[in-house]
Amino acid sequence: MAYAALDNSTVLDYLRTVTALEAILPRDADLSAREVGDGNLNQVFIVQSRSADGTFNGSVVLKQALPYLRVAGESWPLTRERMRFETQALMKHNELAPGLAPQIYHFDNEMSLVVMEDLSALEVMRRPLVARKRFPRFADDISTFLARTLFFTSDLYLTGLEKKELQATFINPHLCKIQEDFVFTNPFMESAENHWNPLIDDEVQAVRRDTELKLAIAELKEGYMTRGQALLHSDLHTGSIMADAEQTRVIDPEFAFYGPMGFDIGAVLENLVLNYLSHFAHTPDGAVRREYQEYLLSLVREIWLQFARKFDELWANNNRGELAPPKYWDFAGGEAAFTEFRRLYIARLLQDTAGYGGCKYLRRMMGIVNVWDINSIADPEQRAIPERYAVHIGRRWVLERTRVTTIDDLIAIVREEAPA
Ligand code: ADP
Ligand code: MG
Repeated sequence: MAYAALDNSTVLDYLRTVTALEAILPRDADLSAREVGDGNLNQVFIVQSRSADGTFNGSVVLKQALPYLRVAGESWPLTRERMRFETQALMKHNELAPGLAPQIYHFDNEMSLVVMEDLSALEVMRRPLVARKRFPRFADDISTFLARTLFFTSDLYLTGLEKKELQATFINPHLCKIQEDFVFTNPFMESAENHWNPLIDDEVQAVRRDTELKLAIAELKEGYMTRGQALLHSDLHTGSIMADAEQTRVIDPEFAFYGPMGFDIGAVLENLVLNYLSHFAHTPDGAVRREYQEYLLSLVREIWLQFARKFDELWANNNRGELAPPKYWDFAGGEAAFTEFRRLYIARLLQDTAGYGGCKYLRRMMGIVNVWDINSIADPEQRAIPERYAVHIGRRWVLERTRVTTIDDLIAIVREEAPA
């Protein structure tokens, strides 16, 4: 079928032709669709099936790429191939971290669409985090997701050949360019699409002429562009995670490509801290605020500690990659040397996490896209409080990254700059 952008009506005609979906959307049933995409890029339909007597049969989500960037409109063309990257990544995530990504039912490359499990029972995490909701499974689930998707796609587990063959299927230049420009470059120079709160203009201008910071960010960008460590999600903010008290699912990996692991870990931790900062405005009651902010910092800590432990265990028990195979360590003292190699590697991951997380705070304050947690603070004076904190923390995570040795170092920066 030649490409056509679907709407609430044609999406039903399309789904009726897909035999793979008959079990979920029976032929004789009534189908209804609603477009729910709140995203910046694509359209998302929830399609429900009911029998003639009104009985609910099931539902699916259909996500389709448009040939342009949705927020910007038709003036900003963007390759529809992004849906292939998203589908491939979702399938990899299902394989490597079962239960932590939506199931995939159908993919149509020509139509640039994927049909997946309907997760409407879960919530995209950003808003409930502003409402001070707790997610008891989150630290365990997201640390498992990170450890498994990163480890099993890296040279630590795959042979050189396997890794490069997989990497070749994730050469995703157009979506990479969006991150390269909008995370690492444009926010830090004059560029028409940047926007920021005029009340923090002094902070923004100071960042843009801070030599030390500009050198560090350029160095981090070079790592993002050249260091194909593992298959990244590459847009792993709390708007790409759906969860409830029992479950966690990572969605929307259309930016997936081979890059430095710290970019994904940093994105998760930074988004939790941005939410922490947003409560200076959202939660005026000091006692209530402090309690929730402590909860958020405990998540940051737990996620890193659990990630580091799981990643190390996976590596110690599955060292089948060719980077430094078991035979390489087969000498007196070799076991201790392998342990030390893992320790150094994970220590470096924490420093990358600080660097990439740090860049992301800054870009959210002065680039093209802000985060809803902070954007939803209507009063510009109130909003300037978390925004200033975010700039200060981001700057320090970037500049102090090479001196960071424990997650508590990163949390200490948050506490110093923005005391609960
Ligand atoms: P975009 O790539 O445009 O950012 P997302 O994948 O983030 O699109 O999806 C946009 C929104 O659609 C999500 O914020 C969520 O509300 C909804 N959504 C996406 N996938 C699902 C799903 N599998 N089940 C239920 N809702 C979903
Ligand atoms: Mg999204």
